[in-house]
Amino acid sequence: MIGGGTGGTLAANRLRHRLSPADEIVVFDADDRHLYQPGLLFVPFGLAPPARLVRSRAAQLRRGVEFRRTAVEQVDLDHDRVITADGGALPYDVLVVASGTRLALEATDGLTGPGWGKRVHTFYSLPGATSLAGALAAFEGGRLLVGMIDLPIKCPVAPLEFCFLADWFFRRKKMRSSIQLTYLTSLDAAFTKETCNRALSGLLERKGVELVTEFATGEVDGAQGRLTAYDDRETDFDLAVLAPLHEGASCVARSPGLGDALAFVPTQPTLQAKAKPNVFAIGDATDLRASKAGSVAHFEGEVLSHNVTRFLAGEEPDARFDGHTNCFIETGFDKALLIDFNDEIEPTLGHFPSPVGLPLLKESRLNHIGKLAFEQLYWRAILPGRDIPFIGASMPLADKHLEKAE
Ligand SMILES: Cc1cc2nc3c(=O)[nH]c(=O)nc-3n(C[C@H](O)[C@H](O)[C@H](O)COP(=O)(O)OP(=O)(O)OC[C@H]3O[C@@H](n4cnc5c(N)ncnc54)[C@H](O)[C@@H]3O)c2cc1C
Repeated sequence: MIGGGTGGTLAANRLRHRLSPADEIVVFDADDRHLYQPGLLFVPFGLAPPARLVRSRAAQLRRGVEFRRTAVEQVDLDHDRVITADGGALPYDVLVVASGTRLALEATDGLTGPGWGKRVHTFYSLPGATSLAGALAAFEGGRLLVGMIDLPIKCPVAPLEFCFLADWFFRRKKMRSSIQLTYLTSLDAAFTKETCNRALSGLLERKGVELVTEFATGEVDGAQGRLTAYDDRETDFDLAVLAPLHEGASCVARSPGLGDALAFVPTQPTLQAKAKPNVFAIGDATDLRASKAGSVAHFEGEVLSHNVTRFLAGEEPDARFDGHTNCFIETGFDKALLIDFNDEIEPTLGHFPSPVGLPLLKESRLNHIGKLAFEQLYWRAILPGRDIPFIGASMPLADKHLEKAE
């Protein structure tokens, strides 16, 4: 298993449960700090202490899963082995690539130049989110620009959630009228899915957030406070909060035949890599159409552990991931929306996971409580690879007003 993040940890734990004790499971990661990434959204607003979000990776793994604290340097597909950064090599029968994404800060001109960490920030890393807390607290007013450099990014709704929380934060400080809040996206609308886009763009409008679309940032000038798009449009800011470009992990880029041009792993719905049938991929590392989200890694875990077990038994992997994604969208003032969709079906109205459940596509306090409670569910049920009643890999269809995705 390359990576002891969300996907790698839950997949290793699920496999430990299914495979025989004689089957060895080894998880590689460079450090022993597992970060609960959804919590990064709350750090800049003082709503989550950074230390609470980090726990030992090794401690999240079931007994019988070995944790090796070293990065994988490269995968040698021809010889079914990984080469590690500490100079070792380990052969495998099955490899699971769970190496997530890399924040490619260097890929955007000027992003980490003058102004980085002062008027240009990101909350996509723990140091970034922590330093942004200071910048938000000290912000005296002006144009606050929130958005992404370009897609793909993990949790594509996180910058929107940041906007909603910024609106709440500055209203609470009685400063909202001195702040021009702008949401910047490379998409042609607030969000990709039409039903969801309607709900989210309505919220932006109601909260007085300006929406700038089709803006893919080519250059950041942190000294002057200006972003320039690839089509030469410019936009000014006093404080910018940006999700950087994402790529697949460097070890994928270094492994001939494994990744695509952005180092994501071309992956089939069985979660087998297109490169070789004994290589599987999970989570953000794949090139699948589904969002790069922890919920996707969670749902994929069931498919992956089933298929790896069959593969090791000499049987054809027969489970397929349907693109099921589920996401709480924090909207401020102790409310949140919940969306649930897959590759075929648009986010819908109704309830999740069953007719008695959380309201979909509607702002509610119950969804906000769900978002906060998710942190405990993550550590106690999702990472340990436990089955959660009524929540399986496939999108539940009961009590949904279904619309086919384009
Ligand atoms: C701000 C923010 C908010 C988010 N909010 C949500 C949310 O509300 N809901 C949701 O579902 N998702 C959310 N996510 C996304 C979610 O955290 C990720 O999609 C999820 O963690 C993906 O799991 P993963 O295992 O693919 O990657 P990760 O959890 O990132 O794990 C990848 C692991 O691979 C390791 N690795 C990389 N290279 C190597 C190597 N060469 N050798 C060994 N190990 C390696 C890394 O160190 C890392 O530990 C959010 C993300 C962010 C940044």
